[in-house]
Amino acid sequence: MKLAPVSQWLGRLSAVCLALGAGSAFAAYPDRSITLVVPFAAGGPTDKVARDLGEVLRKHLNNTTIIVENVGGAGGTLGATRVAKSSPDGYTLLLHHLGIATAPALYRNLPYKTLDDFEYIGMINDVPMTLIGRPTLPAANFAELRKWIDGNKGKINLANAGLGAASHLCGLLFQQAMGVDMTTVPYKGTAPAMTDILGGQVDLMCDQTTNTSSQIESGRVRAYAVTSAKPLTTPALSKLPTLESQGLKGFNVTIWHGLYAPHGTPKAIIDQLNTALRAALKEPEFIKREESLGAVVITDERLSPAEHKKFVAAEIAKWGPVIKAAGQYAD
Ligand code: ASP
Repeated sequence: MKLAPVSQWLGRLSAVCLALGAGSAFAAYPDRSITLVVPFAAGGPTDKVARDLGEVLRKHLNNTTIIVENVGGAGGTLGATRVAKSSPDGYTLLLHHLGIATAPALYRNLPYKTLDDFEYIGMINDVPMTLIGRPTLPAANFAELRKWIDGNKGKINLANAGLGAASHLCGLLFQQAMGVDMTTVPYKGTAPAMTDILGGQVDLMCDQTTNTSSQIESGRVRAYAVTSAKPLTTPALSKLPTLESQGLKGFNVTIWHGLYAPHGTPKAIIDQLNTALRAALKEPEFIKREESLGAVVITDERLSPAEHKKFVAAEIAKWGPVIKAAGQYAD
């Protein structure tokens, strides 16, 4: 009998290991660094969540290196496209937010399908937003801002992170509620937008507390309101009124972040990532950091892949008609 060469046997053995799946004793996922795509600029709120999460997540993934790659532009759709079209091997992941659910209503030719082209790993946090202004704005509180807006119609600009960003949705609803059109100024993320708010180049911005709370606390920006239904308890933000309490009936925008992999990533890898995510979200250093920035770490059923996908489907159904009613879209 002729024996097969050793290389052939090794090849067969690794095929068996693959067939047994990533959760088996043979599997070594992850055995190299993982790229975590953030669809916005470095230094912004989504980027901060990714970097803080990466630090604790890696501990539960064989201490593997997690490389954050910022692919900003087009309201988060460029980064999401990059992951949707990546190899489904567990080594390219996406950390995105509400924008993954608003993009289908905003883009006529979105290069991916939010519900079909990703595997859902789980949700990370809920994050309220704040309405802030350049430090030189001559309005100290919301009542004064309202008067200033009335007196400056046609001249006001509003920063956002592009069509489909959370800042875009929040700003859109704010303009609608106020009955005022503002000139929107899109950036690749709200980190560069914040630089221009601080420098006085743009007037207003609606952004996550994870980006604004330290600037509000140090008095470097004007802070007018929180966009959530209830006031916040975080010390830096607890004095801010809700927009609802200022007469903007029903105003409630709270966003969230989640973790995704390209469609077709093996279930064993998704399960392993979900287990690691659940463990990471219990790390006290991560919880403390999120709380200090006004965010709430997820502990409910939205942490499971299936429930998170259901939640995103519900968000698509919730925001789609609102966006369509506002007549906003892009090709
Ligand atoms: N906060 C941004 C948004 O408006 C994105 C970011 O820079 O993280 O969606």
